[in-house]
Parts: sequence; structure tokens; C-alpha cells
Amino acid sequence: MHSEAFRHWSQKAAEWGADYRDGLRDLPVRPRLEPGQVLNTIAASPPEAAEPMDEIFADFEAKIVPGMTHWQHPRFFAYFPANAAPVSVVAEYLVSAMAAQCMLWQTSPAATELETRVVDWMRQALGLPKSFAGVIQDSASSATLAAVLTMRERALDWQGNKSGLSAAPRIRVYCSEHVHTSIDRAIWISGIGDDNLVRIPSEGRFRALSPEGLDAAIVEDRNNGLLPAGIIACVGGTSVGGTDDVAAVVGVARRHGLYVHVDAAWAGSAMICPEFRHFWAGVEGVDSIVFNPHKWLGAQFDCSIQFIRDPESLVRTLAIRPEFLKTHGRDGITNYSEWSVPLGRRFRALKLWFLLRAHGLDGLRGMIRNHVRWSEGLAQRLGREVDFEITSEPMLSLFSFRHAPPGVDDLDDHNLALVEAINRDGRIYLTQTRLDGRAVIRFQAGQFEATEADVDTAFEVIVEIARAAG
Ligand SMILES: *Cc1c(COP(=O)(O)O)cnc(C)c1O
Repeated sequence: MHSEAFRHWSQKAAEWGADYRDGLRDLPVRPRLEPGQVLNTIAASPPEAAEPMDEIFADFEAKIVPGMTHWQHPRFFAYFPANAAPVSVVAEYLVSAMAAQCMLWQTSPAATELETRVVDWMRQALGLPKSFAGVIQDSASSATLAAVLTMRERALDWQGNKSGLSAAPRIRVYCSEHVHTSIDRAIWISGIGDDNLVRIPSEGRFRALSPEGLDAAIVEDRNNGLLPAGIIACVGGTSVGGTDDVAAVVGVARRHGLYVHVDAAWAGSAMICPEFRHFWAGVEGVDSIVFNPHKWLGAQFDCSIQFIRDPESLVRTLAIRPEFLKTHGRDGITNYSEWSVPLGRRFRALKLWFLLRAHGLDGLRGMIRNHVRWSEGLAQRLGREVDFEITSEPMLSLFSFRHAPPGVDDLDDHNLALVEAINRDGRIYLTQTRLDGRAVIRFQAGQFEATEADVDTAFEVIVEIARAAG
């Protein structure tokens, strides 16, 4: 592509992006199509000859866009949000134009130093103490893997990477029953093994793991010659927002000398509001925390921050330093590739810098407070309808409910069919989960452009479709 064409198509893409965002409210949130429908419209073999850009772009509009689920739709209430505030999209365009590999300080000094700065901005924004350093990872899954590998190496006196695990005692890691599947996978990949992920029964409104149960499990494992390594606490679980008592977990960990990692991938964004920080009280005592500005905060995917109290232990676990990566004694230089599993790194700090400056913390706090308030309001409204039941009260902006009209035999089937009918309708998008063995419907308000009227629409759609279904 020549320079003039690059300019033309970049402008075209920018125009398209703005039109797309403006028109989202009129689109169904989830596309109405059958599996294979898009695949069948794409040529089965690659082109031998160059094709004109006009045609490529026209195909994008005709074949791809109608098959997209619109995550930036204001009535996206499913999963958790993956907000990409327009200003972060602009930053991503610039990043992608420069397309730098930011693995070492010298491969992009500004990317490294801006990352150091904006991660520290976020530390201050979340009210974390100065003792935490941090790094931007691609995903919470990677951050949790890095934390689990660090737990493992610390417990094995840094011998695991070298000697493997075959001669090592069995390592044990503890968590509640409500952690995200990324924890399971970190345990598998790190060679610790699913049998050694000990799930402590949870209790109470926030389904926190029992500290007594945790303590007892650690003591029993020690007595049996196993090697307790660390605990993963959850703040704002994916299903219904399950939240552990971090202070209590830290207390148990201290007694036994264990590492604590906190998964606050979604809920971490809310901690820019001081009034929500009670949800992770005690967090200043943990070893690492992951939170995703690419979820609720508005930094275009991917952008996951891992805060670490002792980065040296992480670097000791992950740094390799072959000759060609050495920066030869330039002291005070951070090479962030030594803080993460992948070597190559995108320039992820720029969008966060743009976002924080363009909205200010106050602007972002306002958005989060609105979402929490609207969600609480919707839970109250639905709870007042006789045929609806709130199955978990709001944790921040997430709650679950189910439709339970008299005379329906299988409420699980009924509610699963209801979610499907709502999503086929397209005005809003929701997802289901299982809670205490029952199928329930999740609702979270969190989309960057959502308004209170969009949440009102959610109420109307849910009630209308539920009652039409009987
Ligand atoms: C979304 C989520 C994750 C996974 O995040 P990725 O960045 O997609 O890996 C992990 N834990 C919780 C609680 C989440 O909500």
C-alpha cells in the first residue's frame, strides 16, 4: 500500500469507526445468524493476485460487521464489559501505526517509561501503597500465571525452573470455589496440577472462602508432607461477584508464610472510588494483584495491570537474559519482558495515558458510580415483580435473578430459554450462570456509553419477553 492509499484508507477507517459507534444503538447487540454463515461467505482459498482495497473494505462491511457481537453497544449487559473508550481507540491507532516491539527498555524507551508512570498512576488511583510496582500484561490469565509461577518458584527455593517438578514435594495452592477458570489453567500450565488446587468451601452473601477452612487445609497438607505455596483470593468473581475477605486471607497466609495473589480483574476498576475499597480491605498486605483496565475502565483490550510487592521474585522467576537481550549494565533500566511470560510486548501504556488524561479519574468514577446505582435500581425493580426472584444481590454493578412464575416445572430450562429469547430479540444482551445448582441470569451494567434509559430498556425487555414466554 502506497503512502497516499494508506492515508486515504486510514481516514476511511476513522470515518467508519465514528459512524459505527454512532449507529450502535440501532443494531441488535448479538447478531442473528447460524454457525457457519460467515465462514461460507469467505473465499475458501487465498487470493493469488492482489485485490483492490475498495472490494476488501466492502466485504468487511457486508460480510464481517453483520456477524459481530457488539461489545461497545450501550445495552451490552452480558459477561463483563470490554470497554474501549473512543480516546483509547485513537491511542491504539497511533500505537498500531508505530508498531513497536516494546520488550526491552532500549527497544522503545518511551513505551517502557510511560508504562512505569501510568502503572504508578493507577496504583495511586486505586489507593494502593507505594510498595507496589507493576507491569501491564496482555490478560489477567497471563498475570495470574506469572503469579502462580512465582509462588511455585518461591516455595521450591527457585529450583523448579531448573530441575522440574518430578523430584519436588507436591505443591499446593488454595482458593475459593468461585474463582475464574484462569486460575485452573495457571495451575495446569505451571505443572502444579489440578489435584493440588485446593478449593476451600465458601460462605455468606459474598461467598467468601472460610479462613478457618483455609487454615485447617494448610495445616493438614503440611502434616501430610505437602508443600503449601500460595493462596489466590478473588474480589468480584465472574459468576455472581464472589468476594473473599482479603484481610482474613492475608492473616492466614502470614501465619504460614504463603504468597497471596488477588484476582480483581473486573472489580479492580471500581477501586478508583474510595467508597468501594472495603470490598478488598487488607489488599495492601498481598503479594500481587491483577486488574483489567480493559474491562470496566475503558482501555481498549488488551490491558491488564499486575501490581507486585516484590518484583524481584517475579523477575527471578521469569527473566532469561540471553546475550542478545542484555542491555549491558545500564543500571536503573526496566525490561518489562522479564516480568511476563511472552517476550514480545505491545505498547499498551499509551491508551491508558490517553484515557486517564481525557476523562480524569473523576469522570471515570462518575461512570462507575452510575453503573452501580443503575444496577441496584434494576435489581430492586425486578425484585418487586412477583414472578421474579433476585438470586444474588448486587456486588457493585452485578447481580443475578431468575423468572419463577407459578406452574413452571423446570425453572432451569425456563430461564435458559428466556436468556436465549432475550438475546435473539437483540435489544439487550445477557448471560446465564449456575448458582447453588440452579440456572440463573446475570445482569451487569458497565458499558462506557450506557445511560440510565438503557437500563430501563433492559427492565422492559426482560419483563416483556419473560411474560410472553409464560
Ligand atoms: C475476566 C476475568 C478474568 C480473565 O481475564 P482475561 O484478561 O481475559 O484473562 C479473570 N478473573 C476474573 C475475575 C475475570 O472477571
